[in-house]
Amino acid sequence: MPRAAAAGNAPRATGATVSNRQHSRRAATAASPAPEGQLILQRPHNQPASTVRDPRKNVEINVGKACNNRCVFCLDGLPKREDRSYMPWPKMQAELERWYAEGYRSVGFLGGEPTTYPKICDSVAYARELGFTRVAIATNATKLRLEHFTDRLLAAGLTRATISMHGHTAALEDRLTRVPGNFEKKCRAIRYLVHKRQTEGALPDGLSINIVLNGWNYRHLPRMMRFFYEELCVDDIRVNFIRPEGYADRNPDLTPQYHKVVPWLVKAIVLAETHFQRVFTFGGFPMCVLPKSLRNNAALLSRYMGEYRDLSTACSIRPDGGHFVPAGATLEPETWAGTEASSVVFMDETEQRVRFNWQDRKQLDLKGKPRACASCDLVQVCEGVWKPYLEIWGDGRFRPVRVRAPAPMSEP
Ligand code: SF4
Repeated sequence: MPRAAAAGNAPRATGATVSNRQHSRRAATAASPAPEGQLILQRPHNQPASTVRDPRKNVEINVGKACNNRCVFCLDGLPKREDRSYMPWPKMQAELERWYAEGYRSVGFLGGEPTTYPKICDSVAYARELGFTRVAIATNATKLRLEHFTDRLLAAGLTRATISMHGHTAALEDRLTRVPGNFEKKCRAIRYLVHKRQTEGALPDGLSINIVLNGWNYRHLPRMMRFFYEELCVDDIRVNFIRPEGYADRNPDLTPQYHKVVPWLVKAIVLAETHFQRVFTFGGFPMCVLPKSLRNNAALLSRYMGEYRDLSTACSIRPDGGHFVPAGATLEPETWAGTEASSVVFMDETEQRVRFNWQDRKQLDLKGKPRACASCDLVQVCEGVWKPYLEIWGDGRFRPVRVRAPAPMSEP
């Protein structure tokens, strides 16, 4: 699939959240394992049932695809010339007004890299003026090292920042983002934001590090946690399993198999639970690859599995190349969605925006169901597996999860 998939790049995102303090208190009292069978099976709408999710409806607005990094797993790949243009200001104002009128009170700005958008501070300020109570940005933070710029963004009313950073050393981070010197710039930005949080209460909805877990960094996860929590004093880390599209399209080197990553994820959860006691969440793992002790523990799942915590999220993006398809029409090859038809994407021809719900899009378009899902008791609550992962590694390792033991056979 070409850059398409852009439609899915939306939530990298500004999403997960219960406040850090709330989470830390919970983490401090380790949950006792629930008995076998105590799984969370309800999926009332398109997300697993959860008592910890922020109830605010969230929209992520893509401001344009231009970026000052070149991450090896970027879903946008190499933007075409027309994709580098930014969202015109009147259109941004109209989008914010539209979503606010629909009851959304949380908004996130995405790119590309939203800090390169000339109207980003105006967008944040306008969102607050309209009444959005949670205004977030998903950023690589390179530009946030400029204190005068960060000050403007905070003064405009930004309440949350999620920073894409994927390594705990200059060698790893600069290799993954392909910008020499990036590590130092990001560290400087994070230290400044942490300082502003500690001294002025900035970013009341949190400052999170978003790590794309991939073949080059997953073995470093415990070291990354130590670096971000203890050296940079961040209190919220989110790891998302790589989605192998864009630059990383079907790349097996960057896309590790789940069974190799899960032991490191489990180690990270144990460290979060027993040592760091800060917010730590993960996303993009199907339930069957998780150990039973985690999968069967409702308290642990609610605390650590992002899908139980992420806000219900709508997305607003520009279609690739400006090729529009009427709602309900069959998508043609070379449109933004490639050759894959979608049942959940709405094409707004008047406003020239593509809109969809992120949870629907993941489950119904972007993720596939291995053959094992047909007899799995979790099929309703589990999102499945990124389709390109299945193309690389196949579905032979997935096993159905059985929640209830089969009833004993009665005597004939
Ligand atoms: S629904 Fe499929 S992917 Fe999800 S846990 Fe069951 S077998 Fe695994």
